[in-house]
Amino acid sequence: MSPGNPLSIKISDWPERDLVRVQASAIHGTGAFAKGPISRGTRIIEYKGQRCCKADLLAAAERGERQLTYVLNLDEELAIDGAVAGNEARFLNHSCAPNCEVIIFGGMPHLYALQDILEGAELTFDYQLQSPTGRRLSRALSRELFPCHCGAQACRGTLVALRGRPARATPRRPAPSVAPQP
Ligand SMILES: [Zn+2]
Repeated sequence: MSPGNPLSIKISDWPERDLVRVQASAIHGTGAFAKGPISRGTRIIEYKGQRCCKADLLAAAERGERQLTYVLNLDEELAIDGAVAGNEARFLNHSCAPNCEVIIFGGMPHLYALQDILEGAELTFDYQLQSPTGRRLSRALSRELFPCHCGAQACRGTLVALRGRPARATPRRPAPSVAPQP
């Protein structure tokens, strides 16, 4: 085989394909959209940003020095802040009926297509926000603090993961985002 044998390279060496464009979103602010048709299971884009200790991020947010808008949860201790050295992935909006999901390989989160996606469709994933303290928010407070306007028929009204919701998260697919304390 040639030196370019794709089986011999690591995931991190794969060239990033250019599948995403950023434009105004009907869901919220700026969104990420499919440049062309994307097949189910496609690895769309890496979620890039600065890797940070969650405790430090939260402390900075509480001091008003940092926002958590583009923070993606990696594990118990680490998160990625897409606001610093991030890419288009940070513009993916939340939807309660998403067409993408986050999967983490070797500490590197990537967005994958959950279904076939049409050209021009907005790319979304379910943020499943969780309190970093593990404290549950009431549904009313969740809707007040983190309202959802995704427009899906099954919209739960909030970006926060709901109490009693079946555990969808697996070790390689943790809840993607952290929410600031109320
Ligand atoms: Zn929704």
